[in-house]
Amino acid sequence: MPNSNGNDPGLTEAEIDQEETDTIMIDLRSDTVTEPSAAMRQAMAAAPVGDDVIDVDPTVEKLQCAIAERLGKPAAMFMPSGTMTNQVAVRLHCRPGDEFICESGCHIYNYEQGGFAQLSGLVAKTVTGSGSVMKTDQLEDLIHPDNEHAVHTRLVCLENTHNRGGGVILPYQGVADICQWAHQNGLKTHLDGARLFNAVVASGIEADQWAQHFDTVSICFSKGLGAPVGSALVGEQEMIYDMRRHRKLFGGGMRQSGILAAGALYAMENQVDRLAEDHETARIIAAAVSGIDGFHLEPEQVDTNIVIFRIDREICSAQEMCDALHQAGVWVLPFSREHVRAVTHLHITPEQAESAGQLIQQVAQEFLGQP
Ligand SMILES: *Cc1c(COP(=O)(O)O)cnc(C)c1O
Repeated sequence: MPNSNGNDPGLTEAEIDQEETDTIMIDLRSDTVTEPSAAMRQAMAAAPVGDDVIDVDPTVEKLQCAIAERLGKPAAMFMPSGTMTNQVAVRLHCRPGDEFICESGCHIYNYEQGGFAQLSGLVAKTVTGSGSVMKTDQLEDLIHPDNEHAVHTRLVCLENTHNRGGGVILPYQGVADICQWAHQNGLKTHLDGARLFNAVVASGIEADQWAQHFDTVSICFSKGLGAPVGSALVGEQEMIYDMRRHRKLFGGGMRQSGILAAGALYAMENQVDRLAEDHETARIIAAAVSGIDGFHLEPEQVDTNIVIFRIDREICSAQEMCDALHQAGVWVLPFSREHVRAVTHLHITPEQAESAGQLIQQVAQEFLGQP
């Protein structure tokens, strides 16, 4: 049976059963669940390759040039994951014993095992933004004085779009202000732009405009862009020597990685503008959720492809909601005891988004109907 990519991999019966389960399950766990299309796989299979650790892989080189140009920076480096590009970035800007400032819900602080501490001996100073958005005046007193008691403050990290913030786009002027303040005070700036292209497509503000405020930017190809693997760290030419050293240290030196880079290139060339469709399907789901008693969109406005909603405690827990939805054919993840996250992506059609919304309403009614 051909799968959604139009491939016929010659499946066993058990696998066909699994495939059928997959096709009826609306998978909103993450935009990382996307699979490469036949055309992307073809581009990957046909990619010219070389040993990117000994010297250079031509397809990796091509991708690095393309993403650097798109972000208006001189240089870029391909790595296996967004976690690695973020961790190489903080390593690049800081020395052991230094501190960086970040928003308390950000990925670097919450979802990378504190890699900055484990791998680079750094401390993080977290600041809770309003709706995940930090303001310059919250940061002004956070730079430690230069004395024997204190760590050195070196770096500010922002995240756009903000994942735990429900895919919010940071206000452009706010980003410019924080980065200007940071640079005036001798701090470096890094953008975790795992979903920067979602912000670009939704805001109409180009990637290079966002990027110009930062010393480094990381981009994920394996989220909404739909490539199977990969991330890029973009910055100045003189950072490349250290970036390569840190990447190798963290285990990210890859050999014929042009096969992976070709998927990322295909995604960049063909699957950026279509992110607007994911924002539309997210709004369809959000509209369904917003009509349910005791369910609250947080944030209320859905900027991009992430929908987070809170369920009043007396109705059910997020886990109970997720379990019941899974039974009904919608796969979402609990994000706290009360919060559920749904993420749309290139496999989710408007019809599926409508169905997911209806199923969420139905399951909610079952919980609401209970005494
Ligand atoms: C997914 C993600 C990353 C990187 O995750 P990997 O799975 O390591 O590629 C970084 N930042 C944000 C905001 C993310 O959502």
